[in-house]
Amino acid sequence: MSRSPDMVEHPRPRFAPWLMEPMLRNKGTYMKVALAAAMVNIFGLITSLFTMTVYDRVVPNNAITSLVALSIGLVVVVVFDFLLRILRAYFTDLAGADIDHDIGSRVFRRLVAIRLDQKKGSTGALTGMMRELETLRDFFASATMTALVDVPFIVVTLVFIAILGGPLVWVPLAAIPIVIGAGWLTRPALDRLSAKSMSEGLTKQSVLIETVGALEMVKTSGAARLLGRRWSAANVAHGDSSTRQRLVSTIAITVAASANTLSYAGTVVAGVFLIADHRLTTGALVACSILSGRAVQPLATIASLLSRLSATRASYKQINGMMETGSEEPGAGALRPVRFDGRIELRGIEFRYPGAAEKTLDGLNLVIPAGQRVALLGRIGSGKSTIARLILGLYPPQEGLVMIDGTDIRQYDPWAMRGLIGTALQEPVLLSGSVRENIVLARDGVDDAEMLRVSELSGAHSFMGRIANGYDLRLADRGEGLSGGQRQAISLARALAGKPQIIVFDEPTSAMDQASEAQLIGRLEAELQGRTLVLITHRPALLRLVDRIVVVENGRVVQDGPRDAVLKDLQRPRVAA
Ligand code: ATP
Ligand code: MG
Repeated sequence: MSRSPDMVEHPRPRFAPWLMEPMLRNKGTYMKVALAAAMVNIFGLITSLFTMTVYDRVVPNNAITSLVALSIGLVVVVVFDFLLRILRAYFTDLAGADIDHDIGSRVFRRLVAIRLDQKKGSTGALTGMMRELETLRDFFASATMTALVDVPFIVVTLVFIAILGGPLVWVPLAAIPIVIGAGWLTRPALDRLSAKSMSEGLTKQSVLIETVGALEMVKTSGAARLLGRRWSAANVAHGDSSTRQRLVSTIAITVAASANTLSYAGTVVAGVFLIADHRLTTGALVACSILSGRAVQPLATIASLLSRLSATRASYKQINGMMETGSEEPGAGALRPVRFDGRIELRGIEFRYPGAAEKTLDGLNLVIPAGQRVALLGRIGSGKSTIARLILGLYPPQEGLVMIDGTDIRQYDPWAMRGLIGTALQEPVLLSGSVRENIVLARDGVDDAEMLRVSELSGAHSFMGRIANGYDLRLADRGEGLSGGQRQAISLARALAGKPQIIVFDEPTSAMDQASEAQLIGRLEAELQGRTLVLITHRPALLRLVDRIVVVENGRVVQDGPRDAVLKDLQRPRVAA
């Protein structure tokens, strides 16, 4: 993990460190924002003093020279005010961009380290949640932050009104509770509606992602009607809660605007009586009426931002929930092996998928000595792929131990461990980008020569040569642009790159023709010499690669022995392989 050095400076906050650390790091910038905001507020006070002086001193005496001097002073103030406002916006953006960048990478790092057994929510919901980061960014890099900084200056403005207009201060003081009250009363509803609207937005996103990801299936199997129903239901629900959310926030905004006007007008009305009593000058009244509008303004701005604040809270909760689910990020003492001998042991494994009723693996024991090549056979759903997942540490077993080279795999840094295991899972998943990128995956130690070597091994080279652009062919999402068998060959090349000592192949040739398969087997035989292979397959031809066969049924080992003995045994009652 690379962390910038000044991030260590602050003690790790206990509350949402992913959010607090970047914020604390930008403390300096926010101080500048606050300073600029303070100056802008003070300039506002100066402007009101200018007005007062003009009314009280310049107008009665027709003192044009004073007016000129005052105007020059005011122009200077306006210029500084202009500059400081721009600086304030600039610093807010600066801090916002930095926080956004930092949070974005923390959340992404956490997303890829999420523990699969604790993952909640669909793909769509998870991606939608990443989009919620935008809402957080809007908060940090926007007027919201500035409006919050302005709030303390309400007090300063009120003090000023009290000095200039004495009892007039009661008018804005009375208006403030109205604005706060409206905000406070609408907030629970807004919070609820924001949370609702967000979760409905996520549902919409889920439907969309599922549909777009499976367009071919949607067309061919006629799933359009089912998905269309889900989509319009999600749309209606989302539209409904959004409308209500806007209505509630409009109420708060309008109350604040009315209170603002009332505060201004009330000051003028009350001021007339004070002037009649000779307790106030006209100039002071004008100044106070301007100031009383300013006193309420930050609250009115906040009222108009209330729905954004609620949305920010909802997003924060959502993201924080994800940040608090279990992570694979290794502890300080995690082992980072540089190579494995290749001994794999599963001892007394009991495993149930999260939320599943039945145990998938039930008392499974399996020892694979270093350098042995083993095939796992068994019917569909017998638990073969699950064994592979456990060996890779994707799921922890509820009971029992998974060990590699005699060490419990929980002690390894999962990334380092998986980096030493060549894996081709049952469904080859490619990424967008070039074929080269898909094989190399930005891994150190996999250069062009190695990429070519493994492509030849996996058979990818034979068709890459025939395709225009070859290894630089750009694939669309999930490897669109290649056939099923081609995708499989590339995923095998990826697994073989870097000569890992342990290889886990789950149905490596299920999408290949027999001739390609036979050639592949021939090449793999030499390549896999002396390496540990866990091969899951339904294809008899592949068994040429292994020394031993293990048959799995209902999550247990039911047969285990040298290849030929087990094969002979299997052929007697029924052909299982
Ligand atoms: P196949 O030969 O069809 O690939 P398999 O032996 O690889 O089958 P597994 O994928 O290990 O079978 O699945 C074993 C059982 O675990 C299945 O009954 C399935 O219902 C269940 N299962 C698999 N994956 C999950 C999952 N992610 N969540 C819940 N249950 C799962
Ligand atoms: Mg499987």
